[in-house]
Amino acid sequence: MPSAPRPSPHGRPDVLVVGAGFAGLYLLHRLRELGMRALALEAGAGIGGTWYWNRYPGARCDVESMDYSYSFDPALEQEWSWTRRYPGQAEILGYIEHVADRFDLRRDVRTRTRAASAAWDASDRLWRVRTEAGDTCAAPYLVMATGCLSVPKAPGVEGLERFGGRVFHTGRWPHEEVSFAGRRVAVIGTGSSGIQAVPVIAEEAAEVTVFQRTANFSLPANDRPLAPGEQEALKARYREHRAQARRSPTGIPGPRADRSALEVPEAERTAAYRHAWEHGGLFGMLRSYSDLTTDADANATAADFIRARISEAVDDPATAEALSPRTHPFGTKRPCIDSGYYTAFNREGVRLVDLRAEPLAGAVPGGVATARGEYPADDLVLATGYDAMTGALTALDPHGRDGVPLRRAWAEGPAAHLGVAVAGFPNLFTVTGPGSPSVLSNMVVSIEQHVEWITDLIAWARDRGTGVVEAEPAAQRWWTDHVQEVAAATLFPRADSWYTGANVPGKPRVFLPYPGGVDVYRDVLEGVASSGYEGFRLSRA
Ligand code: FAD
Ligand code: NAP
Repeated sequence: MPSAPRPSPHGRPDVLVVGAGFAGLYLLHRLRELGMRALALEAGAGIGGTWYWNRYPGARCDVESMDYSYSFDPALEQEWSWTRRYPGQAEILGYIEHVADRFDLRRDVRTRTRAASAAWDASDRLWRVRTEAGDTCAAPYLVMATGCLSVPKAPGVEGLERFGGRVFHTGRWPHEEVSFAGRRVAVIGTGSSGIQAVPVIAEEAAEVTVFQRTANFSLPANDRPLAPGEQEALKARYREHRAQARRSPTGIPGPRADRSALEVPEAERTAAYRHAWEHGGLFGMLRSYSDLTTDADANATAADFIRARISEAVDDPATAEALSPRTHPFGTKRPCIDSGYYTAFNREGVRLVDLRAEPLAGAVPGGVATARGEYPADDLVLATGYDAMTGALTALDPHGRDGVPLRRAWAEGPAAHLGVAVAGFPNLFTVTGPGSPSVLSNMVVSIEQHVEWITDLIAWARDRGTGVVEAEPAAQRWWTDHVQEVAAATLFPRADSWYTGANVPGKPRVFLPYPGGVDVYRDVLEGVASSGYEGFRLSRA
């Protein structure tokens, strides 16, 4: 049952928000501060987005807790305490719920309410949104806070209906406890989700068979409880730290390398990589040298280092070799960070099936089959990933001017001005949309920046009395081309990754996020705002 629609005491909202994760909740708060009424529609039965849905064993942040949190309220960041360097799903969800309660945001969220369609009504200058239950809501502005990784892609595994056992997707994990004790578990997929889940499932299950199509680079998380005093020390300079995060390339403060990996002696380079391996988090190793994402030879030095660590960690040389990534440069897929992934393969009962050697045939009754044979399993875990960055937007498929659907506008690939707005779709905005740094960054930093910029733009349009604001096609073309040019100068396009849409059959191959850095991107957006929103036009309909 959808939660009861609470009639707004003020009538129609000014802004409809879709999604109530980090982005949707901050939108509600910011719009309220700007004197606007907002209503968020959320498909889940609760708030939290990613952290509501992803309850799989081992689900944990890959950005440190004190960075992966809102910075908009100095009192909030002082009063909240984290327990670990990398918080788990439950702790992050607890944090988001605390924020929602602290700022009284829940009263403007309708949970269990999926937006099923949306259309721009030019005569009334309103977005009309229809929910799956058949209700309609309308507001002058529509902000998509639907998430970059919220729509699981079709798993592409034949015969799931014949399997007969329990089937789980990591991103749609049940709320009740799932026990794997004494069971034979098959895991398909070795991206971040699979790599986090495998060691935890392996602690409990009788057998774990991991089906790997592409070996991935994974770095040790070096997770640990926060030491006494550590948190207080950072809180004492939190404002300065947050300012550095906003002006950093990834949304995480840290040193900037200015030397090529190829210009330092091998021993020095190895020492730098070892330091990053033992201490650094998600981007530590990538930040060791200036050219790891742009020069294949430089990148190979880091990739070799990681492969050497994999062969040290894994007892069986054939398994170690199969786990060693050789199909894409390091960092061209979002790096994984793990707690005991490689050593899990040393446990009795844990085995790797290399789908490049024996292609997946599909699920069969009581197991999973490859070209070589069948592997019995009681449970199947699909860690097969998402229709990333555009999936939730094209699923809703808003219809813009003249009834043009977004899917048609994006048939050749997504085009969005600055990653926030789409020409032909007035008063529609996307948080961390395609063409913005989003998934290449600490997402909370990118979300805050987008929410602040988009809500400022809405307030600006409102204050000018016209109310309708829209990206200009020429500006959108310039930005979309620029994103591809910047990407072409990097190694990113060399990987078949969800960054390029390659993981979803038939999806146009376009580099989706903006790889120029959070700092550069922020400068561009601030410049556009201070120019009076050049590239956007105001109109009356
Ligand atoms: P989401 O949290 O995805 O929320 C979007 C919400 O919109 C969802 O609740 C969804 O139900 C709702 N929605 C979508 N479509 C509709 C519709 N049509 N109608 C109604 N509701 C709808 N990023 C990092 O920076 N660091 C990390 O460590 C990290 N870890 C991650 C771990 C996992 C397992 C995953 C999947 C992603 C991770 N990410 C991480 C990315 C993460 O998605 C973002 O950090 C952040 O949580 C996104 O917040 P959001 O509000 O933009 O989107
Ligand atoms: P993913 O990175 O897309 O990984 C999906 C995996 O499933 C890949 O190994 C893929 O193989 C495999 N796969 C998909 N379909 C398959 C099929 N039909 N047969 C065999 N294998 C198949 O998805 P994800 O692991 O869910 O992660 C997505 C993103 O979410 C991450 O990159 C990250 O940004 C975020 N995330 C972060 C964390 C964290 O550490 N905090 C945890 C989870 C997720 P191929 O590579 O060959 O396609």
